[in-house]
Amino acid sequence: MVERHLRRRGIEEDAVLRAMAEVPRELFVPPELRSRAYSDGALRIGEGQTISQPWIVASMTALLELRGDERVLEVGTGSGYGAAVLSRCCREVVTIERYPSLARQARSLLEELGYENVEVRSGDGTRGAPDRAPFGGISVTATAEGGAPSTVLDQLAPGAALVCPVRRGDRENLVRVRNGVEEAIAPVRFVPLVEAPPADQVDGQDRDDKR
Ligand code: SAH
Repeated sequence: MVERHLRRRGIEEDAVLRAMAEVPRELFVPPELRSRAYSDGALRIGEGQTISQPWIVASMTALLELRGDERVLEVGTGSGYGAAVLSRCCREVVTIERYPSLARQARSLLEELGYENVEVRSGDGTRGAPDRAPFGGISVTATAEGGAPSTVLDQLAPGAALVCPVRRGDRENLVRVRNGVEEAIAPVRFVPLVEAPPADQVDGQDRDDKR
């Protein structure tokens, strides 16, 4: 996967390639899809959500230009795969997932696999994690309407980068924002970033978290 889907398609950062080689992607996808874990596609993970394709995960991580000592915020934990990859490239990851069920699954898998520098929260990621800001990098893995969420942008350290898929009209682009300047990277497709809590799961908070 690293040679075929990543290095050949322009991912050069050693730390990112190493992280992609190290993190066992097959454990983050449902058992019946394991045989496809290393093909370069997005896969379903439950609650109508997807685990992003390897090239996207690697690109978004590389675009943050991490040195290794940062605290990074991820909005949209999903399977926890992206957080695991990020965690190999920085000091600490705080990741937020809107579906308590997905947050719980990701939290226990990451714990089981020994990713000790990842904190999984459940709730509305568009509010960020003000108690842990500022962040040395922010990755939003669901599409925002019109622009990156401003509350999250405000939690970026000076000079640090945020990557986020943004929809404007019928165009969806991955953008990078740094020092208030937005740069379009590539056309992409992600699930939407949704601010309201899921209707079937009480108030968007994981009750397990409160114990
Ligand atoms: N990074 C993930 C891919 C996630 S797909 C992985 O590696 O598997 C996007 C995720 O964003 C979905 O799980 C979706 O539920 C979540 N999401 C959407 N809106 C959100 C919000 N406002 N706050 C937190 N998570 C959100």
